[in-house]
Amino acid sequence: MTTPQATPQKLSFPKGGDFFAEIRHEVDLYLASRRTATLGRVQLYVKSFVAFGLLIGSWSTLIFVRPGVVGGLLCLAGLMLGAILVGFCVQHDANHGAYFRSRRLNHLMGWTADSLLGFSSYAWRIKHNVAHHTYTNVDGYDDDIDLTPIARFMPTQRSHWWHRLQHIYVWPLYSLMVLRWQTGGDVTALIKGRVANTRMRAPRQWDLLGLIGGKLVFISWAIVAPLFVYPWWVVLAGYIVFSMGTSLVTATTFQLAHCVEEADFTTAEQVQEGDRSWGVHEVETTVDFCPRNVVLTWMLGGLNYQIEHHLFPRVPHTHYPRIAEIVRRSAAKHGVRYTAQPSLRAALGSHQRHLRTLGRMGRPVEIEMG
Ligand SMILES: [Zn+2]
Repeated sequence: MTTPQATPQKLSFPKGGDFFAEIRHEVDLYLASRRTATLGRVQLYVKSFVAFGLLIGSWSTLIFVRPGVVGGLLCLAGLMLGAILVGFCVQHDANHGAYFRSRRLNHLMGWTADSLLGFSSYAWRIKHNVAHHTYTNVDGYDDDIDLTPIARFMPTQRSHWWHRLQHIYVWPLYSLMVLRWQTGGDVTALIKGRVANTRMRAPRQWDLLGLIGGKLVFISWAIVAPLFVYPWWVVLAGYIVFSMGTSLVTATTFQLAHCVEEADFTTAEQVQEGDRSWGVHEVETTVDFCPRNVVLTWMLGGLNYQIEHHLFPRVPHTHYPRIAEIVRRSAAKHGVRYTAQPSLRAALGSHQRHLRTLGRMGRPVEIEMG
């Protein structure tokens, strides 16, 4: 949902600043090594192989072997893990243009979002790459941080009495996010022609074919084919678990990076009146978590290194741990606030406290009269 604004304002950040220029120079030097660049891509391709293997292997076993209840649940878990890996480690990199050098091949690999995950990669590239990545945590511009009036994620959003319980009821809502996009949320945004304050052009030619074809492929493997093998209620239950599980992991990962106590929130007016450059804005509105957890880093496609991802979305995520050292050093030198939560527990705790605080803020203060 978006904050209604009569006239969308064109928003740009003040240019210049040594902070990001220095980081970019160091990262360019790091990536200039052919060996380093190749190694990063090879790691990315190996990971994709595992993701596709898990997804295809689990689905084929479910459909052709029919492994019984326990085996079926294990396959469903494999299917969910495969989908999460495709979402974080394949389509995300590809739709940012980080997977291949060619734009066309990136779009083709990004189409795994349509065909394997059920949402439009065309709509994603506008919602995620433009609205979220350019205007991170800017009220009315970043659609990812806007669930008004149901929940309040930023201090500038209007407060309602039900927000007092938002730290409890947001969790089931997070698990519906992907389902909403799979069942037409992406098409609705395209029909409306905008996401937050970013314009969405209607897809044409290959983009339109990709959208329609992707929906058909997804419905065929996720719903139609299973209906030939299992009763409708088993397919329905399996689909709901698959969609809600993957959605909860996806939404939580994004929220822990931007919707926490340590992240900055701002408005379009503050961006234009202030002198904070885009690079500094991205670092101060974003938080890393569990940087030393190798398993989590591998599974989340480096999205626990969201600061580095926001500064270098077109660089394969396998390079983020090394880039983080450069960013951290430079942030300390330039006095830019750089936050890395040490554990998943700390990140989740910060998100919960942020939701609680915003749920209470703006409520009338009860004064006890003696
Ligand atoms: Zn991204």
